[in-house]
Amino acid sequence: MKKVLQISIVVILVALVGMIFFKMVSGKSARLENRPIKVTKSVADKVVGESSEKAKSSTSSEQEQAKPEHKWVKSDTPIEFPILMYHHIADVVDGNTLFVPADEFKMEMTALKNAGYYTLSPEEAYRVLTTNEKPAEKIVWVTFDDGYKNAHDTAMPILTALGMKGSFFIITGNLGNEDTMTDVMLSDLKANPLMSVGSHTVSHPDLEYSSNEAANAELVDSKKYLDNLLHQDTSVICYPAGRYNTETAGLAEAAGYKLGLTTNPGLASSANGLFALNRVRVSYGQTEASFMASVGN
Ligand SMILES: [Zn+2]
Repeated sequence: MKKVLQISIVVILVALVGMIFFKMVSGKSARLENRPIKVTKSVADKVVGESSEKAKSSTSSEQEQAKPEHKWVKSDTPIEFPILMYHHIADVVDGNTLFVPADEFKMEMTALKNAGYYTLSPEEAYRVLTTNEKPAEKIVWVTFDDGYKNAHDTAMPILTALGMKGSFFIITGNLGNEDTMTDVMLSDLKANPLMSVGSHTVSHPDLEYSSNEAANAELVDSKKYLDNLLHQDTSVICYPAGRYNTETAGLAEAAGYKLGLTTNPGLASSANGLFALNRVRVSYGQTEASFMASVGN
């Protein structure tokens, strides 16, 4: 009996020593394999996988750009990208040359999509401009000035069907006029996760020749209106007719905006200043080739 006890103690001891030895060896090899990094990566994959599952179920199929699968990559050179400027999306507008027919607009958006362009939200544009990293090789920001009804009725469905984003700049004092959007239409835009709404002032004045007091009221009041109506922190001001002066950026920043859009032609870049971003005007009558050349593709 005593012997049996002795033997079993020896066996247990040997087993313990063996286990400890095995642990040491395998621990070492785990360290050699950099196992902690592997573990982190698989956890990260799982998190990404879960959130993209969530995105799929909550935002439905059409918004493929809403999926968090786009990896932001820092660029070695300063990033420049086109901010497209549209007004009316309609066939013919009396006394106004600022229109693009619906079928041309659809052709242009389809061409961008086929060429692999990623459409930016205002928040994404801000990130690109402030961190010099981007979510795709080709990026573009699609904008609409003046808040026309046809931008809501025609442009939004085309963009939505293609899973592309758009930003609409509203003259808050003109809401509900014959050819401009209503509050309900703005809420419609806001409810679509691909669309966003920014300010185009209250009454579309020439900010270059406005007094600071008048300009400030235009910037503050329009933002307040949109913030209250849409429960958002309106972050982009689009200057009426693209006009501004040396005081405008400071006033806009003080009013709470983060970006300012002009009509100065060219690609947007942080080198121009966050409150003086260039845009690419899209005129009617373009071919796919001329349009794609205008965005620098
Ligand atoms: Zn305008």
